[in-house]
Amino acid sequence: MTQSTGEFALIDNYFKDLTGQSGVVVGIGDDAAVIAADALSQMAVATDTLVESVHFPQWAEAKQIATRALCVNLSDMAAMGAEPKWFTLALTLPVETASDAWLRGFSAGLAQIAAQHNIALIGGDTTAGPLTISITLLGELPKGRGLYRNGAKSGDMIYVSGTLGDGAAALEGLVTNPQGVLGQNKRLLEHFYCPVPQLELGLGLCDFASACIDISDGLVADLGHLCEASQVSAQIYSQQLPIHPELKQLSKQQYLQWALSGGDDYQLCFTLPEAQQRAFEGWAASNKIPVTAIGKMVPLDHNQNYIRVDNQSVSVITGGYNHFGQ
Ligand code: ADP
Ligand code: MG
Repeated sequence: MTQSTGEFALIDNYFKDLTGQSGVVVGIGDDAAVIAADALSQMAVATDTLVESVHFPQWAEAKQIATRALCVNLSDMAAMGAEPKWFTLALTLPVETASDAWLRGFSAGLAQIAAQHNIALIGGDTTAGPLTISITLLGELPKGRGLYRNGAKSGDMIYVSGTLGDGAAALEGLVTNPQGVLGQNKRLLEHFYCPVPQLELGLGLCDFASACIDISDGLVADLGHLCEASQVSAQIYSQQLPIHPELKQLSKQQYLQWALSGGDDYQLCFTLPEAQQRAFEGWAASNKIPVTAIGKMVPLDHNQNYIRVDNQSVSVITGGYNHFGQ
């Protein structure tokens, strides 16, 4: 039985069976597909789409839309432990938006992130219609390396990078009260429009981690995907969740809900055997990458409850953002 619903059931029912076998190392169901390029090398391929008023507000600047579109796609490369190299851009935009000023801003945003990560735009498609940006990233993943959702084992430690809840706090500020404390918070705005893809961490994790996913729909939902793929349950402790001091000014109920179920964090959530803990934490500290242990993997229970927070079962379905969910 699967706990998929909404968009995930749609993918399972209509698209999952179309994955053939030829050269496909990992097909539908992970953060990126992995294909065998030749005997030694593999490529990771991931697509993400941003739609106006769904993934960014109508008043977002062109440059902000471009940086966000590229950063969230790069996050899927990080989750696979891949090194991003090339991308294509399918741009649909209303005729009235296609001004020189808008396109210059958009191009500058793409150029900024592409230069930071040394990636090249190699093609795409341009059409008129409601503003939608779809990017496909291609990355290198040497054979035998890579991070997948399905490798976690009972007893593994669960970690996240950075802080949680910032994406949801930023969205709340942007949408409900742009003039308020959250809406004016520069760190949160920067995080929303330029979430830093955890690429260095992803590459390093290939030496330590048993499984990995990026948190785009919320910790509970995405860790739930990792648990489902690995057929284990996660026990996490709310007190251990890394929350930025600015969010801790808010009510505990609010920041915990955002940290557990809010989307748009683009941090990595990953697991590793306890025996790797010291070596991994030493590596992370020497590379100045903030990581926090938040719990442990436990055997899957009979009711297929994938996530327990402080010893209480939490629904992975209502715990995250789902485009076609109830
Ligand atoms: P992510 O949040 O990492 O971008 P998604 O939740 O969007 O991943 O998608 C889950 C999986 O389903 C991924 O492996 C993705 O490639 C695949 N997928 C999503 N939509 C489609 C589709 N229309 N056709 C084929 N595969 C899809
Ligand atoms: Mg992902």
